[in-house]
Amino acid sequence: MKILVVNCGSSSLKYQLFDMNGEQVLAKGIVERIGIDGVLVHQKGEGDKVKLPNDIPNHKVAIELVINTLTDKELGVLQDITEIEAVGHRVVHGGEAFSQSVLIDDSVMDTLNKCIELAPLHNPPNIMGIEACAQVLPGVKQVAVFDTAFHQTMPKKSFIYSLPYEAYEKYSIRRYGFHGTSHKYVAQQAAKLLGKDLKDLKLITCHLGNGASVTAIDGGKSVDTSMGFTPLEGLTMGTRCGDIDPAIVIYLMKKMNLDFDGMNDYLNKKSGVLGISGVSSDFRDIEIAAAEGNERAQLALDVFVHKVKKYIGAYTAVLGGVDAIVFTAGLGENSPETREAVLKGFEYLGLEIDTEKNKVRGKAVNFSKEGSKVQALVIPTNEELMIARDTQAIVKK
Ligand code: AMP
Repeated sequence: MKILVVNCGSSSLKYQLFDMNGEQVLAKGIVERIGIDGVLVHQKGEGDKVKLPNDIPNHKVAIELVINTLTDKELGVLQDITEIEAVGHRVVHGGEAFSQSVLIDDSVMDTLNKCIELAPLHNPPNIMGIEACAQVLPGVKQVAVFDTAFHQTMPKKSFIYSLPYEAYEKYSIRRYGFHGTSHKYVAQQAAKLLGKDLKDLKLITCHLGNGASVTAIDGGKSVDTSMGFTPLEGLTMGTRCGDIDPAIVIYLMKKMNLDFDGMNDYLNKKSGVLGISGVSSDFRDIEIAAAEGNERAQLALDVFVHKVKKYIGAYTAVLGGVDAIVFTAGLGENSPETREAVLKGFEYLGLEIDTEKNKVRGKAVNFSKEGSKVQALVIPTNEELMIARDTQAIVKK
């Protein structure tokens, strides 16, 4: 079965075409600058990336271009568009309506539209991608896979904020959590690597990338996660502030004479390790600056590590112990220094890491010492594969 996985942003569209027979990526790419000037970067198998500038006014044209490229004699991997049996879409926010991936029909579209107010920046382009695929690939089954769905198992005590209860009842204010597809995928892979049944494991998964979150997973179910009503809560991130005293928002709006958009920008785009360091939102740049003696760059790394540590400690308590701590995403997969710094101090749990094994980048490995009571793992995430798997499972039903 061939499945197209689509991840639409406001001006971009990422795609991967899977042959589920062997879970192989046949081709992948990204359409960027939709509505601006437009370029498609396409890669056939492991081949070179090809840049195809094009006039791409909207997502429908972007999808048409992707399909034309996938069926192109030279660049393509398909004889005919009918070989695409299903499309899996990443959808950021499913609210409380979706606790798992779903086959898209009219009633699902209605509910997705209702979820727009919960994710005004992310859900509209996701919906545009679904509508574009329905037009370009009529009759092909489409599945929505939600960032929030995996966390719908959280108990109420984890997701209710200490606000008047009407905020939840009237305005759906609660913690939803994000990165769910990634946390679920790495949890499943961790169980495989450990040779254990996921049902028997207490895991803490750390998705540390430009956006970052930590999840407590008990027996395969998310029981708490660091992101909340939006992906702004929790850890210090590339440009997002994570947990702060909410009174700061009111204070700064007054002091700096910021309106809602200005404050939103300040918290989402100017904060995090970028805001602390003044250097960059990219951890590589910050690590280099810190190594060169830049104190604020070092402070940004220290704050980031401290936050991750705090969540791991808290979630160990929430889970009543932990079998394995899992690192994934850009930083989690590629920065041995960060992993070592985060885990320093957890020796009291019986966690001992092997610094040689920890030198790995981008590969699955158990880097705890032989005999360590708690395991430390690197598991590269693969949200697209998870979307393809869910899509296959749903359309096969
Ligand atoms: P993601 O959002 O998962 O793509 O992760 C992006 C973040 O991972 C960026 O801040 C990168 O700087 C960071 N990252 C990627 N590779 C490395 C690396 N080798 N060392 C440190 N950070 C890295």
